[in-house]
Amino acid sequence: MKKVLTIAGSDCSGGAGIQADIKTMTAHKVYAMSAITALTAQNTTGVYGVLESTSEFLEQQLDCIFKDIFPDAIKIGMVSSISLIDVIVKKLKEYNAQNIVVDPVMFSTSGHALMCSDAMDTLKNKLIPLADIITPNISEAEALCGFSIENTEQMLEAAKVISSLLNGSVLIKGGHLTDSADDLLYIDGKVTWFNGEKIDNPNTHGTGCTLSSAIASNLALGFNMNDSVKNAKSYITGALKANLDLGAGSGPLNHCF
Ligand code: PLP
Repeated sequence: MKKVLTIAGSDCSGGAGIQADIKTMTAHKVYAMSAITALTAQNTTGVYGVLESTSEFLEQQLDCIFKDIFPDAIKIGMVSSISLIDVIVKKLKEYNAQNIVVDPVMFSTSGHALMCSDAMDTLKNKLIPLADIITPNISEAEALCGFSIENTEQMLEAAKVISSLLNGSVLIKGGHLTDSADDLLYIDGKVTWFNGEKIDNPNTHGTGCTLSSAIASNLALGFNMNDSVKNAKSYITGALKANLDLGAGSGPLNHCF
């Protein structure tokens, strides 16, 4: 069985973070492991508290995992501080980790900051260069490229700028753009647009986490990058279409479809 590790924050309400990652990986029939960077107290209406792991404890979790069950792919989500990013970078290098998917989580869907503002440079200069693919949404792409993105031409410009940060691919998720819901995959200068089927479902909490975990699962299963993204997009579409209406706010996806 293929093994996939998520390094991310816990969402106690089960919609995003580690919980979304494990559900996604299990649905892909890969063995899921987790190194937890933070506990969050949240539900479908918002994030009410964050308790960060110490860097020592994150290091201990990563050592336990890598020394015993080596992951075939890794998804990295919410990492809030410089010291946590530094530990992850150190361990990814030490263990020569493969198939690294970085979802540069900066804010929750409800608008709560999930990364300290001073961690941006460390994310950009140390973690992103190790990634095989990064999966920013529009506002995360704007933070990484330094200009605002209002249309598909600017998405492409942003992808070019962001791709200079790493050797891998860039997937910019266009879902929050007004004139399109298409995602742009940029691999070594090759551009592929994935047409976003607009699904009328307000319950989208955890879509970013789910997409990056689905990409990591597909990479672990041996698919190339283009097919991994294509398969992950179709997984998200299925999970959105199987509409699950839980909680008072933007509810979780349905992984049982
Ligand atoms: N990671 C954690 C722990 C979160 O709580 C959230 C959102 O609340 C995210 C990541 C990002 O979620 P989404 O996939 O909805 O962007």
